[in-house]
Amino acid sequence: MFVQLLLTDFLDRAVKLYGDKTAVIDDERVLTYFELNERVNRLSHGLKELGVEKGDRVAFLAPNTLELLEGFYGVFQLGAITVPLNIRLKPNDYLFILNHSETKVLFVDWELYSLIGPVRNQLNVEKIIIHGGSKIQLEENDLDYDEWLTQFPVKPFDRAEMDEKDIASLLYTSGTTGDPKGVMLTHRNNYLQALQVMHHLRVSDQDVLLHVLPMFHVNGWGSIFYYTSNGATQVMLRKTRPNIIFEKLQKHGVTVMHMAPTVLNSLLQYYDENKPNINQNVRVVIGGSAPPITFIAKVEEEMGWEFIQVYGMTETSPLTLASIIRAQHLDKPKEAKYRMKSKAGYQMSLTEVKVVNENGEEVAANGQEIGELVIRSNGVMEGYWKNEKATKEVIKNGWFHTGDMGVVDHNGNIEIVDRKKDVIISGGENISSIEVENILYEHPAVIEAAVIAIPHEKWGETPHAVVVVRETEKVTEEEIIAFARERLAHYKSPTSVNFVKELPKTGSGKIQKAHLRKEFWESMNKMIN
Ligand code: ATP
Ligand code: MG
Repeated sequence: MFVQLLLTDFLDRAVKLYGDKTAVIDDERVLTYFELNERVNRLSHGLKELGVEKGDRVAFLAPNTLELLEGFYGVFQLGAITVPLNIRLKPNDYLFILNHSETKVLFVDWELYSLIGPVRNQLNVEKIIIHGGSKIQLEENDLDYDEWLTQFPVKPFDRAEMDEKDIASLLYTSGTTGDPKGVMLTHRNNYLQALQVMHHLRVSDQDVLLHVLPMFHVNGWGSIFYYTSNGATQVMLRKTRPNIIFEKLQKHGVTVMHMAPTVLNSLLQYYDENKPNINQNVRVVIGGSAPPITFIAKVEEEMGWEFIQVYGMTETSPLTLASIIRAQHLDKPKEAKYRMKSKAGYQMSLTEVKVVNENGEEVAANGQEIGELVIRSNGVMEGYWKNEKATKEVIKNGWFHTGDMGVVDHNGNIEIVDRKKDVIISGGENISSIEVENILYEHPAVIEAAVIAIPHEKWGETPHAVVVVRETEKVTEEEIIAFARERLAHYKSPTSVNFVKELPKTGSGKIQKAHLRKEFWESMNKMIN
């Protein structure tokens, strides 16, 4: 008889093996795994009383807090489905997602409560419960979480009958290229994902994770399972401010953090300017978009931290590649190692990743030939919620088509060249926006860079750079273009540069190039998504 792979197992294991070990630190609140489990049980009893049943959707709108973590485990015991919401959306987006997912109960953090106000009359949710609700004035019928939770017993919850193929979560994609899509992930998807990732990231009971990556994002959401099951301590973080991150890092002896390159960038800048004390032996796991190679040397040399790049997407639970340096490369010069780590990495266990051409044939493993990444793994989603057409477009013959273009070398190390939608096609030549951005990041004045295609009469498209520069530095458009032309083929270099104060980003910290392209293409009626 096989064991069903259920996400509830991870907390069960932690309670059994690490019951009196610190599970969660959320500012002043410190809980053991026993105590966490008791709160989870209360929550499940409470949800049952509200009429939540197997398969119902329960949504969360919260930053990284104890309430969000326990909320997920509480929902799983009923066999219900979690819908974590991106906290950076607009009221209308919440209206769309909550009604699209037919959410029954919504938990909202008190600081985000006002985001629901403008659309609440159009929402079909049955109950809204506010984390930290005593801090604000609540609408009639809404519940204060703490008051509500304490009514219910800590005794074990009589769990629903579950199958590993049941949907555990409806996770909406980041919305980098267009509207977010509801990705259905099963218990099995994320169970096996947790096993493969904990092994590649060497997660142990000695780890102290600082939850920098939002837990509403698939990568943060999925991370709770492997840190819980290994009895690690999870430190919550409300705001991704560098000063707070460095403070918690020191205070709690953090050993591992996951984040997007843009957040790492803000940490590196803060470190340059303030030189805070830091602990060594920290692993920083970077994914979500391509990190410029300049970041890797800074992280490893200046901070003494280990840089690990990962690649994945919501639709694949998410992780499929990891850039771990192999034993045979350990004595390579450090620059060579940084170059290896600047690639998305090697296929993880339980996963098959191929780079294929338009005919579906694998490209040569020579680090040159570009193709699309296609994936077959236990992590591939069941499909997009209520969108069979979109599902059929991406899952073909059992392979998930990522829409990401890459090259693979003879060791199987895969480099993401660009998203299909971000490639710039100038005079028939394909230009990787990531390659051009990497060069711009080498310029000492540039803090952030995004390179997009804009219309060009002669070449069809041409690269245009949008950059954020250090306030203290004076630099002109001509200087940036000249800098790029010295280091890149002429046709790849930006032909124009726009200086901005900040770049538009998704809730998980990705630069939204589609937003940047919009103003240039709207009049041309070109599909930008
Ligand atoms: P949407 O699908 O709504 O446009 P999104 O694709 O950004 O948003 P996610 O599922 O969060 O939503 O992100 C997955 C994508 O992020 C991948 O398809 C890839 O383009 C990009 N990505 C993730 N990791 C890396 C990486 N290490 N290097 C380059 N790109 C990455
Ligand atoms: Mg996507």
